[in-house]
Amino acid sequence: MNLRKAVLALSSRSTIHQTRSRRGCRLFSSLVLADRLQGLDRPTVWHEFSPLAAQHQAINLGQGYPEEDPPAFVQNAMHAAVYQRNANQYARSAAHMPLAHVLADDYNSKLQRTDIVAETHIATAVGCTHALYCALMGLIQARDEVILLEPAFDIYSSQVQMAGGKAVYVPLRPSSDASGASDYFQLDLEEFERAITPQTKAFILNTPHNPTGKIFSQTELEGIAEIVRKHPRITVIADEVYEYLVFDKTKEPHVPMASLLWDQTLTLSSAGKTFSCTGWKVGWAVGPPHLVQAVTAVQQWVTFSAPTVNQDAIAQALVQARQPYQGLPSYYDYLADDYHQKQQLLVEALQAAGMTPIVPAGGFFIMADTSAIEFPYPSMEKTPAMPVTPMPRDWALSRWMTQTVGVTAIPPSAFYSPENVPLAQNLLRFAYCKNAETLQEAHRRFAAYFQNQ
Ligand code: PMP
Ligand code: GLN
Repeated sequence: MNLRKAVLALSSRSTIHQTRSRRGCRLFSSLVLADRLQGLDRPTVWHEFSPLAAQHQAINLGQGYPEEDPPAFVQNAMHAAVYQRNANQYARSAAHMPLAHVLADDYNSKLQRTDIVAETHIATAVGCTHALYCALMGLIQARDEVILLEPAFDIYSSQVQMAGGKAVYVPLRPSSDASGASDYFQLDLEEFERAITPQTKAFILNTPHNPTGKIFSQTELEGIAEIVRKHPRITVIADEVYEYLVFDKTKEPHVPMASLLWDQTLTLSSAGKTFSCTGWKVGWAVGPPHLVQAVTAVQQWVTFSAPTVNQDAIAQALVQARQPYQGLPSYYDYLADDYHQKQQLLVEALQAAGMTPIVPAGGFFIMADTSAIEFPYPSMEKTPAMPVTPMPRDWALSRWMTQTVGVTAIPPSAFYSPENVPLAQNLLRFAYCKNAETLQEAHRRFAAYFQNQ
């Protein structure tokens, strides 16, 4: 039995839930989950590794959320939204207009267009996660296929399943002759084209990419666009939440997919990474009205509107971010510079542990090759989030590293379908959206353990 089938079998049994009534008597109810949730009710990689890190006082370089607070101008914008701009009641359902206007300006400039209009081309949502949920619920019919490139951020396949669709996986293949993450993780365009069938309805493209940091080049994106153009039924859902975390705009710029394939692309992004406010959950979708409508049609029945105050603060922050900041031409330049420095700290820490970082030119994660690390591999161990054996090597390694070395990473097998989990076994994903002191402490722990072996 393969990994996925085993996990599905475990979680598709009806679960007996034991609760207590107000009078304290035990009540038993038998709960059978809806088919669309089969296999999705178990804890996830996030539920396993953040608590494990806390339990062992490990440096948590697993879950990707910035350790820094949002910059002062962003915090002040939230204050102004509540106290001066009275953004406290329901927003317009599709998008709070001040945010829609700023986004329309930004995307007209990024995509070199003039026709992106706040009223019809922009939808806002509760983070990119919710924008994606609305997009998939709005676009996918039962049994439609959605192509995902692996490794793929784990919400993608789960949301495809909840929408009634079927995920079809195309792995990025490791290249032996690479200078960084962007050319190490290669998309074989022929393999991509072979994955397209008459049922293919969408393709989720994430650039800069989580978990690898790969930035898809103009040439790669043109290759994808050429193929997708032959299939007008397909929508490219471009998740670009790391769009501003790009370190060398001359050599490896972020190219928005919508600049090459406007009519078939729905671009998603959010404010969490850019302004270090992942908890504010402000996300959006931008594209031609026929695609944006799919999002707004779902959103109006799910949340009705995203929180006004958060949207208003981000509308102000996006305007401010264009201004010079700390001696640099804009806040975005400062952000990219700051992350580039943090990345260097993490690279040095990983090398101190004998790992080989596959260094990206964007995002805030590094995948590292861990093949040189020897550790006691309890392959028959199970956890609620990984209830099958053999436990993938990367999963076991991150557990061991948390418990023994005091540093936590995310095992990338969480981002692969069972067939392709072997591609993850010698990799771990480390986040560097952390303070310099945190990254230096990880370095100290790695050096103390691995250099005393
Ligand atoms: N897409 C990718 C690729 C991500 O890494 C994340 C994680 N934050 C999200 C979407 C979710 O974004 P948000 O927090 O805005 O929902
Ligand atoms: N996107 C972040 C990561 O990949 C956070 C994920 C999450 O909290 N679900 O680490």
